[in-house]
Amino acid sequence: MIYAMTYQSVNPFNQQILKTYSELSDSELDNALNTAAQAFELWRQKSFSERALITEKVAALLRSQVDKYARLATLEMGKLIQEAREEVLLSSDIIAYYARNAKGFLSATRLRPRSGRAEVVSTPLGILLGIEPWNFPFYQLARFAAPNIMAGNVVMVKHAASVPQCGIAFEELWQEAGAPAGVYTNLLISYEQVKRLIQDPRVQGVALTGSVEAGKAIASLAGQNLKKSTMELGGSDPFIVLDDADLDQAVKYAVSGRMFNAGQCCTASKRFIVMEGLADSFLQKFKSELEKFKPGDPMDGSTTLSPLSSEAALKKLLDQVDRAIAHGAELVLGGKRIPRSGAFMEPTILTRIQPDNPAFHEEFFGPVALFFRVKDEQEAIRLANQSQFGLGGSVFTKDIKKGKRVAGQIETGMVFINQTTDSTPELPFGGIKNSGYGRELSDLGIHEFVNKKLVSVAEQAKPVEKKAAA
Ligand code: NAP
Repeated sequence: MIYAMTYQSVNPFNQQILKTYSELSDSELDNALNTAAQAFELWRQKSFSERALITEKVAALLRSQVDKYARLATLEMGKLIQEAREEVLLSSDIIAYYARNAKGFLSATRLRPRSGRAEVVSTPLGILLGIEPWNFPFYQLARFAAPNIMAGNVVMVKHAASVPQCGIAFEELWQEAGAPAGVYTNLLISYEQVKRLIQDPRVQGVALTGSVEAGKAIASLAGQNLKKSTMELGGSDPFIVLDDADLDQAVKYAVSGRMFNAGQCCTASKRFIVMEGLADSFLQKFKSELEKFKPGDPMDGSTTLSPLSSEAALKKLLDQVDRAIAHGAELVLGGKRIPRSGAFMEPTILTRIQPDNPAFHEEFFGPVALFFRVKDEQEAIRLANQSQFGLGGSVFTKDIKKGKRVAGQIETGMVFINQTTDSTPELPFGGIKNSGYGRELSDLGIHEFVNKKLVSVAEQAKPVEKKAAA
């Protein structure tokens, strides 16, 4: 079913409505599409260094005004201001990374055909549509826009309805850096208008980051219209602690892995799978660390627990916790809303979650940890893989060889040994199973939406030797 949406900034710390925007009319959307189509004809002809000049400038503008953008993210979706600053700096790094490396990543690949010469060249496809979530309101835009714009495509972005100011600010950055109109377009549009865009022949691809439900809806629209797509969807990352792990190190990462961004990360550590020998001490230390979190104003640098992104997100999480307990889970910590204004959730730990409990299969998008104890490595791997998701995961052990052996058997797109799932420009990001398909970031990210075109040159016929005139 298609719902109309309202683009509205609501500060989740105090529920204050900051700004409301109306959606584009269909004719405004047509104009934006025409502008993007014209921009593509111009942009595709530019050299890498011409594109890099503008793209580097976007990176520099973000970096030089980190507080301005960080405050906007905190205001609209509630993350801690220091985490928002980190996000803005990482976004700037990603953009600069593609400005510097796109040419090398997309250079022609020489082939060795039986005869003649051949190479594969990478050419842009056209207009790409990005559909992005609110949890990293700048980073998500950076990792979609930078590689694709550097590859010569132009992008149109439907950002989440709850972060319209971040979406608009990011578009203005490209304008300020001198990008021709239509190279980057922010769209305040409905789901129905998203559908129209995917149906338009000028739109050649769609990248979605979001929930499994949104992924299914958009991937099927892309499929019906034979459009290339990438899907970066939800996750329920396993965090495996083997019996030889450094316990304090594991607990430290468990806390940051679950609590970063108030737990609202696709790659947050969500399922803590600990071997018997360490299980009790891990649980006790983990619990006492989570008890230390202090809710407060996310703009205040001393706050350690921010509100969730919205009242609706909090209600959904509370409902999941209640259902988990109703189906037999045991509550070790938290489980309730924090009685103060704002969408605050207590850090929570649940144990004794059996496969017939819906919690066993769901993604908990907030500060709720699911704890499992296992008897050996094989049981840990089996449990880690008993999930519809396959995004990231961690293994803690002092024996790196063993860590790699376990990593090799985990069914996810990314595994980190002795650390939590991380994202930097150079590392590919993406998943398998219901966590989606395709990769963003690294060199892999820039190859998703280019035409890998074969150019083959026939072998020259050998010149016929002329006989000397008799
Ligand atoms: P969401 O509800 O799926 O929304 C994501 C984006 O998709 C928003 O812009 C949303 O628009 C749009 N959307 C949803 N359904 C749509 C439809 N039928 N047609 C057109 N657009 C549609 O997800 P969310 O709650 O914002 O984000 C949390 C989810 O994203 C979690 O599952 C998380 O794990 C996942 N995530 C994954 C990654 C990754 O890289 N794998 C990264 C971050 C987040 P509206 O806001 O207007 O509804």
